[in-house]
Amino acid sequence: MRQDLHDLIAAFARFGATEDGGVCRLAGTAEDRAARELFAGEIGRRGLRLDVDGIGNMFATAMLDQASCDAVLAGSHLDSQPTGGRYDGVYGVLAALLAAEAIAARAAAQPGAARRNLVVVNWTNEEGARFQPSLTGSSVYAGVQTLQSALSLTDGDGSTLGDALGAIGYRGAGAPALTPRHYVELHIEQGIRLQDSATEIGIVAGAWAARKISVVFEGEASHTGPMPMSRRRDALRAAARSIEILYDEVDQGAHASAARISVYPNSPNVVASRVQVWFEIRHEDDNVTATIADRFLHRIDAAIAPLGVSARIAIDEKRSTAALDAEGVKLAQRVAGDLGFTSVVMKTVAGHDALALQKRVPATLIFVPSRDGLSHNAREFTDPVALEKGLAVLTEMLWRLVTAP
Ligand SMILES: [Zn+2]
Repeated sequence: MRQDLHDLIAAFARFGATEDGGVCRLAGTAEDRAARELFAGEIGRRGLRLDVDGIGNMFATAMLDQASCDAVLAGSHLDSQPTGGRYDGVYGVLAALLAAEAIAARAAAQPGAARRNLVVVNWTNEEGARFQPSLTGSSVYAGVQTLQSALSLTDGDGSTLGDALGAIGYRGAGAPALTPRHYVELHIEQGIRLQDSATEIGIVAGAWAARKISVVFEGEASHTGPMPMSRRRDALRAAARSIEILYDEVDQGAHASAARISVYPNSPNVVASRVQVWFEIRHEDDNVTATIADRFLHRIDAAIAPLGVSARIAIDEKRSTAALDAEGVKLAQRVAGDLGFTSVVMKTVAGHDALALQKRVPATLIFVPSRDGLSHNAREFTDPVALEKGLAVLTEMLWRLVTAP
């Protein structure tokens, strides 16, 4: 029984705890700072060195081989969605911390065995709940987003990520001066594939495509009472029609959502003049994703024209399908098998820091089951035994990576 893991998860769940047992810990808030401070304390207690880079990523280094300039990275994120659970992200960071502690002890007992150093990472703003887009810290580290553009991301109240990080004291000087050779992330699945197939470990080979389109509908404000129906230019009605069209277009196994809406002026007595909706389409095939998006955008133009409402695209983010490191998949399969666990190679529908990291360094993503696939929900739950199996796989995988010739 790894009570240390369960105690750590419970300790971090206090920061941003919600009444229903979940967690609301948005990036760059006081709750985020409290979780970071505890993490920094846990890093220090284990004799690891803490570095913080310019976008607030936290790096805890275990120097296993002073002569080596190489490092294996492992981590995830401590931020959450507004309706977050206790495991998403946090589990991967804390498991990596405990794995590093165990590996440091093993390396000390076997002088010369470790040939690379080990760095545990908490990536900033993985969730993209307060600042969009998501995967901010990992994307900056991977070099696919500039530090300057990331710092100027703005939340709904007009605060920048740079100011928010400054306010909580997490705009640091830089990442450790080590060359990353591999990244490993342990995460709850947030789907039902492992539960349905009664499999203990999921090994992610790649990711679905995602298209995130935010559309602004422009109509005209008027009184909701006397204005004749035929003369109204109701932006909210156009948005509602468009949302239904999206779900109508979702076939061929795609997933889609319209999960955020902003209405102006948002008064019960004013026909909405401007509405913004955030749409998402996901599929494992890039072409299917693009086709659905094209059909959707084409259909809404025609559908809302009779309402006297126009639509324009405010954000159009295309995430292509991606493959994770093939050698890492094989190594994770071997490790799971050697430890006596069942495993399956699968794809991730959700985005993860490992996908951003893969653009700079070979990356591996490992899943453990989440009960009923429930995530971004206070009732998110992973069985303690499943959490421990994931930790065992992560630890052994990291050991093999730091000791590999
Ligand atoms: Zn996550």
